[in-house]
Amino acid sequence: MGSYARRRTTVVDVGGVKIGAPHPIVVQSMTNTDTADVEATVRQAAELARAGSELVRITVNNEEAAAAVPRIAEGLEKLGVRVPLVGDFHYNGHILLRRFPECARALAKYRINPGNVNIGRRYDENFRTVIEAALEHAKPVRIGVNWGSLDQTLLARLMDENARRPEPRSAREVMREAMVASALESAEAAERYGLPHDRIILSAKVSAPQDLIAIYRELAARCDYPLHLGLTEAGLGTRAIVASTAAMAVLLAEGIGDTIRVSLTPAPGGDRTEEVRICQQILQALELRSFVPQVTACPGCGRTSSTRFQEMAAEVERYLAERMPEWRANYPGVENLKVAVMGCIVNGPGESRHADIGISLPGNMEEPRAPVFVDGRRLVTLEGENMTREFLRILEDYVAARFGGR
Ligand code: SF4
Repeated sequence: MGSYARRRTTVVDVGGVKIGAPHPIVVQSMTNTDTADVEATVRQAAELARAGSELVRITVNNEEAAAAVPRIAEGLEKLGVRVPLVGDFHYNGHILLRRFPECARALAKYRINPGNVNIGRRYDENFRTVIEAALEHAKPVRIGVNWGSLDQTLLARLMDENARRPEPRSAREVMREAMVASALESAEAAERYGLPHDRIILSAKVSAPQDLIAIYRELAARCDYPLHLGLTEAGLGTRAIVASTAAMAVLLAEGIGDTIRVSLTPAPGGDRTEEVRICQQILQALELRSFVPQVTACPGCGRTSSTRFQEMAAEVERYLAERMPEWRANYPGVENLKVAVMGCIVNGPGESRHADIGISLPGNMEEPRAPVFVDGRRLVTLEGENMTREFLRILEDYVAARFGGR
């Protein structure tokens, strides 16, 4: 699958997960538990992995967190959840990785932010220590630049250079260049300290879609490292989902991006796995990967004022979600299934024919009958109160026949 030509990259192995073209784009997420709370972190990492997160990042912000990492890895192992853990280091990674070798071993990758390694102005030494830990434990590293913590020395240098130009660029353009330069110069330094080229992944996250697009286009043109995509501090709810999708879709459609994350601010006590499902939907909408069957439903309008059609669409979605764990195990390829639930005769039969299986419900003034289409042909017409139940039975039989090899 994949409608777009992926930019060719070096391939990096992260605990058995291959990142970079030609491998599929990898979905990742991050826990928001206190890493020192082993039980809570194991629980959430397992939930994220079961929802489809192929890498799970955890913050390693202090000694308690570093000491907890091997126990978290063990806890996941005991649950039978095999997902590579990525350690997120800021400020003190050089100390923690040296002091907690078990932590360094248990992690599949280290994420370092070049903008805040330079505590005490010992950037080179601290950065080098992290790279040496990666070398010692044979781990890859993500050099993750973030504009909220952009290397200020580098930015000041580029601003000075810009001021001396005959036609200075805008501050925004200089900021973008500083993001790219920070990632590339850090990668160059990591290789100088001995880290192999195929153990480096880059990211350069900002919170504005247009900046993200410009920065990643530039990175993609100037290096062949795999790129981790994501809008940082995307925000809450609809705004975060739309902004992340808008930015990432443009890049993914250009073949840029080898692993993605949608950074949502969850509602208190909200479901952290939502960010995983959104990543999957972005990749599936672009036909880059398939994860779950897709339901096409019309928005409804004045031609169908009863709620039956919305209820049926929701019921079909629920049924698919419920059946997927079993279907996935027994019916390979079922994630490519396309189902249509439509509200009236205007687009109903047409859209249902385009789906693998579809139903066109009657609009307000139409006869109370609902034709069901299978593989483009009308199979049967349903009527009466049990339409949903009958449609789901036809759907179940269709899945077994088509994907069960019977
Ligand atoms: S298919 Fe019918 S009910 Fe649905 S949006 Fe179109 S016209 Fe309205």
